[in-house]
Amino acid sequence: MTNIAEQLVYYNEKIVAYHQAKLVAVSKTKPIEDIQIAYDAGQRIFGENKVQELVDKHEVLPQDISWHMIGHLQRNKVKYIAPFVDLIHAVDTTKLVLEIEKQAQKNKRVIPCLFQLHIAQETTKFGFSEDELIAFLESEEFKNLKHVKIVGLMGMATNTTNTHQVQQEFSYLKKVLTRLKSDFNLPHTDWKELSMGMSGDFEIALKEGATMIRIGSAIFGARNYQK
Ligand SMILES: *Cc1c(COP(=O)(O)O)cnc(C)c1O
Repeated sequence: MTNIAEQLVYYNEKIVAYHQAKLVAVSKTKPIEDIQIAYDAGQRIFGENKVQELVDKHEVLPQDISWHMIGHLQRNKVKYIAPFVDLIHAVDTTKLVLEIEKQAQKNKRVIPCLFQLHIAQETTKFGFSEDELIAFLESEEFKNLKHVKIVGLMGMATNTTNTHQVQQEFSYLKKVLTRLKSDFNLPHTDWKELSMGMSGDFEIALKEGATMIRIGSAIFGARNYQK
């Protein structure tokens, strides 16, 4: 049995060393009771990767939880989370941004988003390439957004024991963020957040400038099924 509260103390000590870093507790597949334990220990940001699960948990848990959608998001499901989601981490296509814009407008709000960049070697992982993202940032479609606020980038490193490679991938993501900050300083952008690092590679991510780490299994224990 993992002691959720003790794990939270451990990770909060880790992020204290990196002033702006925030801890996203990834509660996917975990029961309400586990989230409530983490909440009672002071945790307020939780990440989920399935829309239905996110909606169900949002309904029954305390209303001051900041819910982050961290997984690949299908366009036809944006409408279910648009009323309440606090941050969408993995915006990986232009069509998805346009759908978030539409649903945010319907809900009379501005939804903060991160663009996911493809930094890993695995082709199964999602995300824009740097060139694709820049082409989109230069488009009229992007300039006309009013209900989406882009607050940074998200990335997932290659699943490998080669820590040098992981470090290179995170360092690259930080480099792109710095470039966007200087070249695309628009009213609806604020290039400040760098969401990178999970249970297995968060220390490297923090060293490379992560402002948000997404920790699941190390806090809540191993998941019964992978995703
Ligand atoms: C599941 C997941 C995490 C957390 O993974 P752990 O290895 O359990 O810490 C982080 N980010 C995303 C996008 C995930 O889907």
